[in-house]
Amino acid sequence: MKPRLLFATTNPGKLRELRGLVGDAVEVLALSDLPPVPEPVEDGATFEENAEKKARAYAEATGLPALADDSGLCVDALGGRPGVHSARYAEGSDKARYEKLLGELSGVPDEKRTAAFMCALCLALPGRGPSLIEVGRCEGRIGDAPKGEHGFGYDPVFVLPGGKTMAELTKEEKAAISHRGRAFQKMKPRLLAWASGQAVGE
Ligand code: IMP
Repeated sequence: MKPRLLFATTNPGKLRELRGLVGDAVEVLALSDLPPVPEPVEDGATFEENAEKKARAYAEATGLPALADDSGLCVDALGGRPGVHSARYAEGSDKARYEKLLGELSGVPDEKRTAAFMCALCLALPGRGPSLIEVGRCEGRIGDAPKGEHGFGYDPVFVLPGGKTMAELTKEEKAAISHRGRAFQKMKPRLLAWASGQAVGE
């Protein structure tokens, strides 16, 4: 029987990405495949802390190995904000959040608009430590106006070194260079080692 792994997300895009990465080696379950479990509060000071908190809570609640991610946007001119608060930076829609960001950065010159998307991924086994953590980073800068129709969140205002915004990339192009894609790629060999019976953390 294949090892089973819970990916603690309700985001179908993230789930598809993970299933593609681990292929046939692992049976990946989503939160929606299980009876509801209490949602952990994401009150950590770092992405790593939040990812570990989520993975650990879901592993203990379900008895399954659990993988969780936490991500956000860190803007240099704002001292790293919105960071771990990216999802709650402004009430309402993604548009409301990136418009607030553009407002905070109005008058900030191009060379000072540098930013990075960050993602921490954590694998926790029930009843056993330590957890495995991998971090992915994607550098760019915040543009002056939104551009592009793909992606979500701050993608329309995040300009990559080539000049396109993240929202102008296809799903595949984004997965190849994004913070989440990079963290997944780093985690992949460790997940496959775990799936083939090797101890986690070695
Ligand atoms: P979470 O990791 O799903 O909690 O996401 C945190 C927040 O960071 C999201 O709600 C978005 O606002 C932002 N974010 C994370 N990853 C991305 C991305 O790939 N593109 C745009 N925004 C993102």
